[in-house]
Amino acid sequence: MLHNDLDINLQKADPGCLKEKPDQNNLGFGVHFTDHLFVMKWNRQRGWHNAEIKPYQDFSLDPAAMVFHYGQAIFEGLKAYLGPDKQIFLFRPKENLERMNRSALRMCMPRFSVENVLKALKALIYLDRDWVPESKGATLYLRPTMIASEPGLGLRPAEEYTFFIIKSPVGAYYSEGFNPVRIYVEDKYVRAVDGGVGEAKTAGNYAASVKSLTEAQEKGFSQVLWLDAVERKFVEEVGTSNIFFVIGDELITPPLSGTILPGVTRDSVIQLAKDWSLDIKERSITIDEVYTSHKNGLLKEIFGTGTAAVISPVGELCYQEKVITINDGKTGPMAQRFYEELQAIQFGQREDVHNWMVRVA
Ligand SMILES: *Cc1c(COP(=O)(O)O)cnc(C)c1O
Repeated sequence: MLHNDLDINLQKADPGCLKEKPDQNNLGFGVHFTDHLFVMKWNRQRGWHNAEIKPYQDFSLDPAAMVFHYGQAIFEGLKAYLGPDKQIFLFRPKENLERMNRSALRMCMPRFSVENVLKALKALIYLDRDWVPESKGATLYLRPTMIASEPGLGLRPAEEYTFFIIKSPVGAYYSEGFNPVRIYVEDKYVRAVDGGVGEAKTAGNYAASVKSLTEAQEKGFSQVLWLDAVERKFVEEVGTSNIFFVIGDELITPPLSGTILPGVTRDSVIQLAKDWSLDIKERSITIDEVYTSHKNGLLKEIFGTGTAAVISPVGELCYQEKVITINDGKTGPMAQRFYEELQAIQFGQREDVHNWMVRVA
């Protein structure tokens, strides 16, 4: 059932009913959606079935659908890029789909064939190829999602699921320049505990984080840096990004201990760091070490990594009312180098030595 070829029923939107394309220079993030979506269903008897690409439209779901009550929902985020010759590429899409299968396993949801879903994803992008933005740094953001659609209030894994992919043209993240952000180090709330669901991209993790985010934003910060839930001293990740520190000659990122999301961008930065013979270490780092290194003049840079922003430099940290400024609040050379290299690979301006790019059409 996992590996049979998937037959996709194609229903194209009526040419007269295509949406008006949004202004390419003012796309925002996840505001506009393309003309088509992909949907397939799963149940115990039939496995994956009813795969279809059809006009973007509302779903009809029973109010008792289990996702609304018990939150079995997982998702992914990746992008399609327009290369210099107008061909469309994806960046390491199998990593995202394999991660989604790992999220599915953790949430007692069905897994799928990565090959089949990648095929569906490519077909869907090709159909809406006019939606891949041409403006500099803009991309088509892809959101594969799976939800428990079986109605019922008894708590158990659902026996019916809906998988879908929607797509949104998104602007360059740094439309106003590559400016460092102010980050609040969260010491009241926690994101994930050992044995929990922190390494799954599951909806509840984000629902649980918005209280912390809004409180940080009220104080003038744009994101929070999470600490471990037990001792509240080890650095984990920031918002929806993984985190890196440049201390002395070391590039440090916390290890994948089970409570942080294993980012594809994180993995790519580690690979580039190895290519460049940098002293890259996946090791635990406490917030005290960060502050002490700053005091000793050794903390050179901090930056986040994630699909949405690629690299987000951190200009300021606030921990227990103590504010430190990193690299004078400016983007450091390391963050700049990773950002430029990744963007150049993704937009087809640099040789892709690791075969990260997958051609759509
Ligand atoms: C998606 C996500 C990341 C970044 O992962 P990428 O694959 O690099 O986009 C990091 N942390 C959290 C909590 C996330 O949800």
